Amino acid sequence: MTHKLPPLNYPNNALEPHIDTRTMAVHHDKHHQAYVANLNKALEDYPDLQEMATLELLSDLDRVPEEIRTAVRNHGGGHANHSMFWNSLSPNGGGVPDGDLAEAINESFGSFTDFQEAFRKAAMTLFGSGWAWLCMDDEGKLLITTTANQDNPVSQGLFPLLGLDVWEHAYYLKYENRRADYVASWWNVVSWGFVSANLAAIKIAIGARNLAEDVDKWAKDTWSKIEGVFSKPEDK
Ligand code: MN
Repeated sequence: MTHKLPPLNYPNNALEPHIDTRTMAVHHDKHHQAYVANLNKALEDYPDLQEMATLELLSDLDRVPEEIRTAVRNHGGGHANHSMFWNSLSPNGGGVPDGDLAEAINESFGSFTDFQEAFRKAAMTLFGSGWAWLCMDDEGKLLITTTANQDNPVSQGLFPLLGLDVWEHAYYLKYENRRADYVASWWNVVSWGFVSANLAAIKIAIGARNLAEDVDKWAKDTWSKIEGVFSKPEDK
């Protein structure tokens, strides 16, 4: 099996004016495509690893042979992060979360506004290329974190609920150096339904006893859900 670029489930111009058409085309069709191609190349000689979901690989990089570990970390991370990213955006997004998610955010951060401010600060203070994340730890506590490059929080035993790409390629064509404007605008296209669905899957995973099993179960469940919409590996 090889990984393939998941199609977007909305047109390139659907997120205008918050994320512009040209950025979507380059970001999805070129950048994401390159991560997929390089991941497949790295896994070329490893048929058993090809059978694993990308998030499963990332959840325990030690089981990936050393000669391809960095490639899997970077390009597998790029594939996983972007697949989640497209899925977390919607032309009907924005607004505020509700239900369990709203409750969890209020418990952990005080209010949705306080959460937004903390997330904004994380996205703005990340130096260089990387991602800002809303994650859950293995005790069910929400936290905000950042990762460099294409690292995914699952490699640190955290469960990512929502990620924001702050690589310049994600915003430079429209916003140039104004990362703050991009971050502020992004909230208008966040799909809280996607984040809520992730939260439900993660809570189930955390219900299991052993953390390693949790991460695996979560990776499998979440990835298959995302893949169902987006990113089914293709039979060779
Ligand atoms: Mn990107």
